[in-house]
Amino acid sequence: MTITFYYYSKDSQINQLKNEMQLVSRGVELEGIDYFDDLELGEFRITWIKTDGSVIYDSAADTSSMENHLEREEIKQAIESGYGESSRYSNTMLQQYIYVAQKLDDGTIIRLSTTQNSIWYMLIKVFYPIYIVFLLAIILSIVIAFSLSKKIVEPLNNMDISDPKSVKCYKELEPLLERLNYQQIQLKKDKEEIEKNANFRQEFTANVSHELKTPLHVISGYSELMKNGMVQSEDIKKFAETIYNESRRMSNLVEDIIELSKLDTGVVEVKKERIDIYILCQNVLDSLQSVADEKNISLKLRGSSCFLMGIPNILYGIIYNICDNAIKYNKKNGSVLVEINNTANLHPQVIISDTGIGIAKEDIERIFERFYRVDKSRSREMGGTGLGLSIVKHGLLIHKATINVESTLNEGSRFIINF
Ligand code: ADP
Repeated sequence: MTITFYYYSKDSQINQLKNEMQLVSRGVELEGIDYFDDLELGEFRITWIKTDGSVIYDSAADTSSMENHLEREEIKQAIESGYGESSRYSNTMLQQYIYVAQKLDDGTIIRLSTTQNSIWYMLIKVFYPIYIVFLLAIILSIVIAFSLSKKIVEPLNNMDISDPKSVKCYKELEPLLERLNYQQIQLKKDKEEIEKNANFRQEFTANVSHELKTPLHVISGYSELMKNGMVQSEDIKKFAETIYNESRRMSNLVEDIIELSKLDTGVVEVKKERIDIYILCQNVLDSLQSVADEKNISLKLRGSSCFLMGIPNILYGIIYNICDNAIKYNKKNGSVLVEINNTANLHPQVIISDTGIGIAKEDIERIFERFYRVDKSRSREMGGTGLGLSIVKHGLLIHKATINVESTLNEGSRFIINF
């Protein structure tokens, strides 16, 4: 702005000077030196110079003390072409002089000059109101920016990260809040899961210790009696049998715990293979035959070859545990039937049914819990650990299979596995 304004004002001053000079030249040509008498000059300075450069008249200085003007730029131009102009800074640097000169018909030269404020003067003086406005604008901007940003940030500061939807915030932030909310819910769920797991483990450890303590007490008590010679020789066999049974039970329990923790921590051979579940069931029934014979329980297998992808050891454990229960909780002369169905929409199905004591409705939901036994003493008597069906549940989970239990008290139970 300053530069544009500066050049504009310079141009208009030169034009004005030129016009004035036309009048002065005319006047001097007509009247000679008399023209300058009583002349009102205002901000202009007039100099009349001879062809040799000496000054005839000057409105601002004494002509006798003035130096030769031939070397002045505007004079040189005027001598050469009839018209000349130039500008020069004064010592203060804040003002400069503009000169225009014209050669008259008699060869003398009329020069008019005036002062113009320099570009620095304009920068400092003319535009200082603009600086004030500029400063005020900056101050105002800062104040507005502060209060605006405070207002913008306020709803964000009032937000409760643990419950992002509790405070109304910006519409634009809704997707973010949705995500935060979702994460909070997930975090809460994870926390609950961790707490549940911790409780679960604590309960499990307590149960394990309890389950181990009972047989250990029996073993240590009985062996102490024997060591102190307090057992009649005819009772020794009975005592030894009890010790043997209890230690078997302990070893079963430890085996089950190891199996369960393997399934729990995922330390199982995950490589699945193609398995004929019919052959696998046949093997299970073969290994349980002697146990079934003791109770005169018949074991039957129905169906045909049926292949599925699975982990052999785990599948064997699943079928073994269910069949073992079907024998354990059966009646004398009862039966166990294992059916393999391969027809229904290609999903293999194994149904294990027995003619045993059955399970009450309210117990069915709980039998897969660790250490849950409907009849503790009967389970103990049968060498049960209360972990068999938990192992089944985990094993089925690894195979993405489901299990349903149907049972009628005193009539029998059906365990239906869908792979
Ligand atoms: P356990 O080692 O006591 O057999 P399980 O986890 O295998 O433990 O079974 C849990 C409980 O479920 C058993 O104690 C028993 O009361 C009940 N149960 C399991 N299978 C049968 C069944 N076929 N008939 C009747 N009750 C059963």
